[in-house]
Amino acid sequence: MKAKDWQRERKAERRRLRTMPYREYLKTEEWQVTRRWVLLRFENKCADCGDEARLQIHHLTYEFRGNELAKHLDTLIALCPACHGRRHNLPVSARANIR
Ligand SMILES: [Zn+2]
Ligand SMILES: [Zn+2]
Repeated sequence: MKAKDWQRERKAERRRLRTMPYREYLKTEEWQVTRRWVLLRFENKCADCGDEARLQIHHLTYEFRGNELAKHLDTLIALCPACHGRRHNLPVSARANIR
């Protein structure tokens, strides 16, 4: 494949990742790999309190979805459910499914 074609394909893939429903995005290989990198970066510890249980990935911005792994890994942080809820200002009962 020519470099130009590869670039075009990668661009189309990024657009697809960016525009698919968020729920779908979380199932992609791209997100699974991204997620693992973020956990590695934070040594499997919550960025706010250091807890190591049931970590979730929090987006500081959704602007770079689909391109986070390549260039914007610093927009993602690992948080425990309690700290994650705090960042979203949600009551405890609503914290199960937040990103
Ligand atoms: Zn925490
Ligand atoms: Zn979040």
